[in-house]
Amino acid sequence: MQVIKTIAEMQQFSLNCRRNGQTVGFVPTMGFLHEGHLSLVDQAKNESDIVVVSIFVNPTQFGPNEDLDAYPRDFERDESLCENRGVAAVFYPPVDQMYDDNFSTWVEETALTNTLCGESRPGHFRGVTTVVTKLFNAVLPDVAVFGQKDAQQAMVLRRMVRDLNFPIKMIVAPIVRESDGLAMSSRNKYLSNDERQRALSINRSLISAGELFKNGETSASVLIDSIGSEIAKNGGKVDYVKAVSQDTLQEVESLEKPSFIAVAAFFGKTRLIDNIFLG
Ligand code: AMP
Repeated sequence: MQVIKTIAEMQQFSLNCRRNGQTVGFVPTMGFLHEGHLSLVDQAKNESDIVVVSIFVNPTQFGPNEDLDAYPRDFERDESLCENRGVAAVFYPPVDQMYDDNFSTWVEETALTNTLCGESRPGHFRGVTTVVTKLFNAVLPDVAVFGQKDAQQAMVLRRMVRDLNFPIKMIVAPIVRESDGLAMSSRNKYLSNDERQRALSINRSLISAGELFKNGETSASVLIDSIGSEIAKNGGKVDYVKAVSQDTLQEVESLEKPSFIAVAAFFGKTRLIDNIFLG
């Protein structure tokens, strides 16, 4: 497995693969890898001849009071996880390789980013769409795989790929969970044992809402209230619980059409997100 740190070498690597008739699958990450990330590698392997994983903690998607500096990092561990999973190359650029001092060009999606995490984290998605564009231009993939855990992000990036004509097949892979149901996340490392136990209320409340829905409950406010109160009862501070359309991300009052419920909640200082697709 190669570790590549410059954009020029990354492009050369992919162009060589393509010249040899190999398709390139790509999994962008911020590192501190877990089985959720590695499941995306497996999906990419199914869809392409070789897999590239990027590891880049992207400063432009963090707000001024967010956890950029504290974000967990362990490159050596990530490297061996990738190697063992059959990754062909890890793209691991330093920040100055991705952003020049006078960097001034942004990519922005404007219809799907005003709600959910876009509302709570102003500028976040502009950072995501910009860095993913830059990573696409460095890695030149045929296929890119993202996780349903970040459902809004996946929708925004799918829209960007369509709107800007990237010749890339987008795949969205299911949420991978710990055995107790907590959605895997690099940020779970921040949780104390007590916070982690209490954070299980997120998934538990989503499952209960899913059961209510299966039994015929379609009122968004009933489902949202049941989730919000379960999380609050466990000491979580709800950032948002919203039921939104799977097509437009607009809030829905009734879950008769394909929708999902998205949650963001703080346990201690740690902000966790999760979701359930219904209908
Ligand atoms: P991150 O390193 O958190 O930026 O995530 C990189 C990619 O992994 C994104 O496409 C995420 O949606 C995906 N991902 C993160 N956690 C999970 C999970 N628990 N299950 C599936 N995909 C995930």
